Amino acid sequence: MTTEKIHREVVIIGSGPAGLTAAIYSARANLNPLVIDANDAERQLIPGGQLMITTEVENYPGFSKGIQGPELMEEFRAQALRFGTEILEANIERVDLSERPFKLQTREGHTIVAETLIIASGASAKWLGIPGEAKVPAGLGGNGVSACATCDGPLPAFRNKRLVVVGGGDTAMEEATFLTRYASHVFVVHRRDQLRSSKIMQDKALSNEKIEFIWNTEVREILGTMEDGVTGVRLFNSQTGEESVFPCDGVFIAIGHKPNTELFKGQLEMDEIGYLKTSGHSMATNVPGVFACGDVQDSFYRQAITAAGTGCMAAIDAERYLDSLPVPMPTGEEITIEGEVVTADHKKIIMPDGEVISNKVEASAGD
Ligand code: NAP
Repeated sequence: MTTEKIHREVVIIGSGPAGLTAAIYSARANLNPLVIDANDAERQLIPGGQLMITTEVENYPGFSKGIQGPELMEEFRAQALRFGTEILEANIERVDLSERPFKLQTREGHTIVAETLIIASGASAKWLGIPGEAKVPAGLGGNGVSACATCDGPLPAFRNKRLVVVGGGDTAMEEATFLTRYASHVFVVHRRDQLRSSKIMQDKALSNEKIEFIWNTEVREILGTMEDGVTGVRLFNSQTGEESVFPCDGVFIAIGHKPNTELFKGQLEMDEIGYLKTSGHSMATNVPGVFACGDVQDSFYRQAITAAGTGCMAAIDAERYLDSLPVPMPTGEEITIEGEVVTADHKKIIMPDGEVISNKVEASAGD
């Protein structure tokens, strides 16, 4: 266990497209950023983010022939390192945003002191919360139940088998299509009679002979044993009200994602699902000096390119924020980039035109 203390102007949590774009921009601005990431199977955090478990990425501009997700993230990482980004593999256990500089404590023992913090911790796969889904030994998770086809699909346990994919969005279509490489049959179980996914991905899945759709149906339980793994699912048809047991050998849950924001509960404003709130025209959160970008603050677009775009914005916001902070002078006075002088006793601000104003925050009406 280390006791290392690291102090940086810009600390970035997460190394997906948002985090690494923020790193590229802040490194090029000579801010010497520290990116913190870790492989945490429990919380489904993967260095490189969700693109590390994606196959072909066809819609990232600049790659006319498409690129594999992990390869794209390798490029992001190399570009961030090229300009001097430092990457620390550690699990953050606690953050204290009550005063600046902010403090982060890692499970490995690092104390990280951040003048500005960029949160790009992304989102993780959602689960149904049904019997049989929990991780082994409580359920069959990891023993026939997965939320990542690209990670687990090629495993021998799923080859030439009947597999169920739950969901009706792009993730479900992508996972189902990918699994047909290995499975004998893939059954997409969707709770409605219409898919949410984009037309192009629907068409791909609907025209695949190995994929069958089971509409208006919920998976209520995953059946099986520790020895045999998954043997079937208990289905409920919401149109007929009938329950049935459907034999299968594996289940892939593909029902979307939830933001990784547990660390910030009670410290940063979030919406009812847990997405961090940013200020609209910038990536600023409600705490000055803390910025958020990528899927952790975006429940709507959730694309690699939009994550990268907001990463760039967060880095520029952090840079401007640092620039706007008063710089301490040997005299005890502080000077802002606009030329305002804060007196040594912190009681007055002398404006560039000579006007002297109080440095006290005015109480607003209703206070
Ligand atoms: P999503 O679009 O939110 O779709 C989630 C699906 O799961 C929906 O069909 C939903 O059903 C279903 N669902 C949610 N909760 C459920 C529950 N408790 N029980 C049963 N079904 C449930 O999520 P996503 O598919 O992960 O896609 C997220 C974003 O990433 C989208 O913007 C998508 O375009 C993007 N994406 C893009 C690609 C690509 O371009 N290669 C690949 C993957 C994802 P309802 O339809 O009834 O709500």
